[in-house]
Amino acid sequence: MKKVQGNDSFQRINYLYQISKHMAGINPVLSAYYGNLIVNVAKKNVLKIHPDIKRQICKKCRTMLVDKTSGKMKMRNRNKSKHIEWTCNTCGVKRNFPANKGKDHRVWLERPEAVEEVIN
Ligand SMILES: [Zn+2]
Repeated sequence: MKKVQGNDSFQRINYLYQISKHMAGINPVLSAYYGNLIVNVAKKNVLKIHPDIKRQICKKCRTMLVDKTSGKMKMRNRNKSKHIEWTCNTCGVKRNFPANKGKDHRVWLERPEAVEEVIN
């Protein structure tokens, strides 16, 4: 097997993500602690966190946002465009994500052409 740079860290991030998500409904403080670790591991190793994971981490307190437990998800209409609004139950910070029908809101990393290599 080829050695992939940062592979250990990706595994670690994956593991931390799962605990953080699990803890969100039990202990938001611990969830934030693990969320913080994810960001730090990624920073230290100069890795990009997958957008799916990144979107779930609160920007301010880094709690993993889970609807109806650690956060609230709402659909909003603003200037004819739809948004998904996330409110963090721990620190109250709001985040908006565009969600228009028929439009591709995926960031580059999520598009098929961004996949360079699949590691098994
Ligand atoms: Zn928060």
